[in-house]
Amino acid sequence: MPNIAILGSTGSIGTQTLQVLNDLPDYQVFGISAHKNLGLLQEQIHKYKPNIAVINGKEDVHLLKKGVDIPIWVGEDGLCELASHPSVDVVVIALVGAAGLKPTLAALSAGKKVALANKESLVAGGHLVMKYDKQLIPIDSEHSALWQCLDGRNPDEVHSLILTASGGPFHTFAGDLSKVTVEAALKHPNWDMGGKITIDSATLMNKGLEVIEAHWLFGRDYEDIQVVIHPQSIIHSMVRFRDGSILAQMATTDMQLPIQYALTYPNMKTGSVPHLDLWNLPDLTFSKPDINRFPCLALAYKAGRVGGTLPTVMNAANEVAVAAFIQRQLGFSQIPNVIEEVMSKHKPIDNPSLSQILAYDQEARLMANDLCVRLKGRVIN
Ligand code: NAD
Ligand code: MG
Repeated sequence: MPNIAILGSTGSIGTQTLQVLNDLPDYQVFGISAHKNLGLLQEQIHKYKPNIAVINGKEDVHLLKKGVDIPIWVGEDGLCELASHPSVDVVVIALVGAAGLKPTLAALSAGKKVALANKESLVAGGHLVMKYDKQLIPIDSEHSALWQCLDGRNPDEVHSLILTASGGPFHTFAGDLSKVTVEAALKHPNWDMGGKITIDSATLMNKGLEVIEAHWLFGRDYEDIQVVIHPQSIIHSMVRFRDGSILAQMATTDMQLPIQYALTYPNMKTGSVPHLDLWNLPDLTFSKPDINRFPCLALAYKAGRVGGTLPTVMNAANEVAVAAFIQRQLGFSQIPNVIEEVMSKHKPIDNPSLSQILAYDQEARLMANDLCVRLKGRVIN
């Protein structure tokens, strides 16, 4: 019976992981964690009866203690201890942001199998995470699709990876992007996800982060990773082979599928997600991303190509800018401006250690925060 730890169990991926586990009775929920949503964490403790729960702050432990008789660990240390606990077999990293990096490394260095949703940890510290490539399996739907298309194939026969992108809520929007509201940006056409990734999808930074994620996971140069807008989100990604043939992975638009695949790999189990109804599919369309309107994608390619600490810094600036946008402190079109300016001031170093990554991440956050404060007077929405 594999013991699972879910870091970020109250989020979109975390709750869907628990749903998947409802259909996998052989798996035991050993530990769960939440940042702020203690009410939901409490419900999850009662329903799934984990051995350990982790929350963000010591001051909140008493709130959870009512009717809960398991150990409650706190903060980043608590997450790392749970991720590396001797009884845990599989760790699902469903945290959002670079906060996932240390727990991911803690799990990997303790020899755990890691089902990774948290793309930011690969963006911020890809070379550190990939030292443990044999223990990793992606949850991100595009990378799960690529994983499935590449399974058993000769890497030398692969020409390129093609990541599909829905294009987000503003793909066909012809108006002024600087005036779009937080509410409009949070309405993703196809996926119901956490706030940060939903805004990243609207700016196309999500696809940029995924390009870097694919570079690390599949060891491909940036020239060989393409992005295609496919608004129906039926094809989750494709691999083009040497002779020009393309393998695509298609499935119902539901994150439970890649989550279940990651948990049960190399086996595949029957799940409860309805199969694709081929007779009632919309037309499948493909177009090029517009990097003039959505410059975040180009910024991510640039960060990836330069490498070193630049992706770390880009990711940190993006996290700050997105949070400021959600709090109505920054306009939508100012998100790439903040990221670009922070990137332009950074002198990347190669092959950084974990402590260097964390230091540059912090520095970039401070710089991005200052910029957001300076730009605040010019917010339109
Ligand atoms: P979410 O905001 O819905 O959930 C995040 C979870 O992490 C919550 O449980 C929250 O309590 C916890 N958390 C947040 N900040 C934290 C911090 N600083 N320290 C510790 N815990 C913290 O996010 P999500 O949409 O589930 O996304 C999680 C990750 O999965 C992201 O990296 C995202 O890019 C990736 N991902 C999500 C989806 C999706 O469909 N939601 C798809 C692919 C990839
Ligand atoms: Mg994705």
